[in-house]
Amino acid sequence: MPKTREFTWNGMFADRAIPSSNGCLEFAGYKNEEGYGRIMRLGSSWWAHRLSYVLANGPIPEGMVVMHLCDNPSCVNPEHLKAGTVADNVHDMESKGRARKRKGSAHQNSKLTESDVIHIRTTNESVTNLAKRLGVTSTLVSRIRNGFTWKHVELNHAL
Ligand SMILES: [Zn+2]
Repeated sequence: MPKTREFTWNGMFADRAIPSSNGCLEFAGYKNEEGYGRIMRLGSSWWAHRLSYVLANGPIPEGMVVMHLCDNPSCVNPEHLKAGTVADNVHDMESKGRARKRKGSAHQNSKLTESDVIHIRTTNESVTNLAKRLGVTSTLVSRIRNGFTWKHVELNHAL
């Protein structure tokens, strides 16, 4: 008989969150076509990233969704998850990118616009190419892609 998992972050995720080079913890259980993990627990089915958020941070605030700062649907690293409003969801990222342009672009030494950041996070283009084309370092491009900088640009999958 399988041992019942302890309903804590470690109990649910420690043995099925595989670290990847960009700091993500890839969920190693059942995933849907889009890569979102599903977990059966107490007779109901949870999105793995939402469960990870709840076990790490407590309940999701009312009316909020859990988004991936890393734009990786399979990631269950609580540090890559953030609660945001439904209005922050992926469908309005373009308009929001424009609306918030001032904040990011005003940042000291910033050569990039929020549209560039969105592009960096959504394209398959290599870090080296992007860096060359945008006139910035590849370190900066990787940091943006992995969500370590420009965190206020939220273009992540929301469920
Ligand atoms: Zn991640």
